[in-house]
Amino acid sequence: MDFLSKWLNIIRKCNIDNTYKMAWAKALTEIALETDFDKIDNQQIEITLDTIARKVVKYYWEQTIYFDLKQGSNPLKPPKILSVTKSLISKYQHKANSTHPIKYLKSNVENICETEYEITIKQVIAALKQDVSYRFISLGGKIVEGIYEYEKGDNSLCMTLDNLRVLKDNYGISFEAINYRWSQILENFNQTPRICKKVRIIDIEEIRRTPLSKFIKYLDYENPEHSCFICGKNIEGETPSLDHVIAWSYLYSDDIWNLVFAHRSCNSSKSNIIPNEQVVNKLEKRNLRLLEALIENGVNNKETSELQFAIEHNLVKKFWISCQG
Ligand SMILES: [Zn+2]
Repeated sequence: MDFLSKWLNIIRKCNIDNTYKMAWAKALTEIALETDFDKIDNQQIEITLDTIARKVVKYYWEQTIYFDLKQGSNPLKPPKILSVTKSLISKYQHKANSTHPIKYLKSNVENICETEYEITIKQVIAALKQDVSYRFISLGGKIVEGIYEYEKGDNSLCMTLDNLRVLKDNYGISFEAINYRWSQILENFNQTPRICKKVRIIDIEEIRRTPLSKFIKYLDYENPEHSCFICGKNIEGETPSLDHVIAWSYLYSDDIWNLVFAHRSCNSSKSNIIPNEQVVNKLEKRNLRLLEALIENGVNNKETSELQFAIEHNLVKKFWISCQG
C-alpha cells in the first residue's frame, strides 16, 4: 500500500472515542503544506510535538469558542486537550473583557495570555505524547509501517521528505477526509445541527456573517414600534439590535423565524442561555403575527415562505428541544 492509501486508511478507521487523532492528522497535513521543499536537503524531517500542539490548540479553540462542541464520548471526563483549551479561552475572555467569539489567528492569545498559553501548550504536548503520537499509527493493534518514526516518550517524530511531499501534494484530499471523519465522530455525542459546517470553521479564515439588517424591514411589519423582545419596552434613541432567540452558536444560521428586535444592552446581557418555554411560546406567537402581517402587506418572497415553513413544521419547538440535549 502506498503512503497516501495508508494515511487515508488510518483516518477512515480510527476509533471514535474522541477527536484527537483527527486534530493530529490535520496538524501534520498543515505542517506538510507549510513546508518549503526547495530549502530542504535531508531525507528525514523532524517534526516536534510542540509545533503540532500549537496547531491542535487552534482547532479546538475555534470549535469551542464558536460552537462549544463536545470532543469526547464521556461527558463526565472530557478530553484533556479540550479542557485545557477551554480554560485558556476563559482566561482570554476574562482578560479581553468580552465573551464574543473570535478567530484564533485574530485573537493574539499568545501575547495577551502569554504565560497561560505556554502552560496550555505544555499540557497539550503531554496529552499528545501519552495518547496520540504512537497510537495514531496503530491500527487494530498493529503498527502501520511507513507513516512516520516515533519512539514512545520522544518530543518529536521523523517523517520522510517523500511522505511529507505526498501529504502536501494531496492536502485537499487529506483535509476533506479528516473533516468528514471528524464530523462523523462528533455526531456521536453532539445533538447540534450543521456539524459538517461547524467543523469546517477551522479552514475558514474569517467568519463572514451576512448583515442581519436585511431582516429589519420584514420585522417592522409586525413590530413597527420596535418593542424589545426581551424587556418589552420600546427601543428608542438607538438602532434596535437583532437577537437570535435560539443561539446562533447552536443554529449557525440566521433565520427570520428566530430573529427579534432587542435593546443592545438586553441582547448582550443575555449571552447564550437556552431560552425558557415562556420565551419560546412568545416567539411562536410572534411568528404567527409576523406571517399574517407579511401576507397582509403583499410580501411574498423567500423570507415569507421560510417563515411559513418554520411555523408549519414547528421548527422553533424542535430546535429548542434539541438544543437542550
Ligand atoms: Zn430591552
